[in-house]
Amino acid sequence: GTIADRLTRGVENVTDTLTSPFTEPVIRLGVTGLSRAGKTVFITSLVANLMDRGRMPQLMAEAEGRILAAYLQPQPDDTMPRFDYETHLGALTARTPHWPDSTRAVSQLRLSLKLRPTGLLAGMTSARKIHLDIVDYPGEWLLDLGLMEKTYAEWASESLARLEARPGGTRYLEMVRAEDPSQPLEETRAKRLAAGFTEALHTARNAGFSDCTPGRFLLPGEKEGSPVLTFAPLPPQDNAPRKSLWREMERRFEAYKSQIVKPFFRDHFSRIDRQIVLVDALGAIHAGPAAMDDLRRTMAEILGAFRPGGNAFLNQLLLGKRVEKILFAATKADHLHHSQHGRLTAIMEALTREARDRARFAGADTGAMSVAALRATVEQTLPHDGQQLDCVRGTLLKDDNTRGREAAFYPGELPEDPARLLGPAREGADRWLDGDYAIMRFAPAPLTLKPGEGPPHIRLDRAAQFLIGDRL
Ligand code: GDP
Repeated sequence: GTIADRLTRGVENVTDTLTSPFTEPVIRLGVTGLSRAGKTVFITSLVANLMDRGRMPQLMAEAEGRILAAYLQPQPDDTMPRFDYETHLGALTARTPHWPDSTRAVSQLRLSLKLRPTGLLAGMTSARKIHLDIVDYPGEWLLDLGLMEKTYAEWASESLARLEARPGGTRYLEMVRAEDPSQPLEETRAKRLAAGFTEALHTARNAGFSDCTPGRFLLPGEKEGSPVLTFAPLPPQDNAPRKSLWREMERRFEAYKSQIVKPFFRDHFSRIDRQIVLVDALGAIHAGPAAMDDLRRTMAEILGAFRPGGNAFLNQLLLGKRVEKILFAATKADHLHHSQHGRLTAIMEALTREARDRARFAGADTGAMSVAALRATVEQTLPHDGQQLDCVRGTLLKDDNTRGREAAFYPGELPEDPARLLGPAREGADRWLDGDYAIMRFAPAPLTLKPGEGPPHIRLDRAAQFLIGDRL
């Protein structure tokens, strides 16, 4: 930022430190990512590891012995659902552990840290307190920002064009062709169209596509079934009559913008100080080039939401406030032997750089990393065809095919040079992660934690250092 910006921020930090206990500093950390990216597991393991810090050597305040205590507190916002930390941790640490229920809506948790003071007056001042408010929200909702500046006609024609090229699109497009949008609205038809469109979005998501707006069609929250969520794209119409199907769809689209998207950005997004965006990069790489292209666009779109001045609607809400740090983290790195982690990180770095360029982003400090919030595997190197193969060993989730088998797996390879995946040279028929990756759905491993030890992870401490280390 500019020098003036930095000065103002410096002053804020100083006042934060000096004015306690009356205004104890708060960091609002946003955790987002598309559904199944790993938000719930990340928050649960982060909080557990901040409370029991035996595995956090890369968090400088911890390494320097300055964190005196960490504890959960009632959150300050009475109307906001609390992140169900205890239930989620219970799932991960049960005798037969299982993955917790995923994020469906916004929730929040307050973790407070007591820190030993540093600096010249350290001996004379009492411990300092800082509150970390962790806000969990679906990335799908963030992508809805793009709708704010679109009319129904624009959004509908883009959506229809996108469906042409995606799996599951044909059925919906056939439904649309059978409709006459200028006919008066009938609720049953509107519902059928919305259901057909929602199904097409789900099919695209399951095939690895990221950008599937409107976000509430995939994760409805509490407004499920209401008219604001009962619309669908129809081809542009000249002079559709009042009360026609087309007009009503247009009206509902506008209601979705003003009554769903806008309040989310106003009440939650606009208050975030630091942000981590979790990305299932391995999943997209495995799904292939089309899913990868889509992920690249989506990352740029997400970053665009954090660009000061990028969007008139947001500008009005933010009034100059901005997020200071954004970390893009590839999750589930425990699917790879550490010999491939550098490659995954290089891909994340290239994707983040590219997203910055695409979104013409200049502002917050951005970073890229690969992490596993909950490590479900151990490493094992096995001979194979006269070579040594770097595998990971874990227990597969129980289903009819795997029967909960424990074994060593080789996911396949990531390219050494990210350009092989992202650059112009990727046109070739290169397939990555084409080994066992397709079947590698691990169950969380049973844990035997020593006192003071949080659940095992990969680089969660580095992620924490990037996000909040400077404030501790
Ligand atoms: P959310 O939808 O973003 O809240 O995603 P979750 O946190 O519920 O994670 C979705 C799924 O990804 C989990 O049920 C796990 O199967 C898997 N997952 C998440 N984090 C990890 C991880 O660190 N390691 C492994 N092996 N799997 C993970």
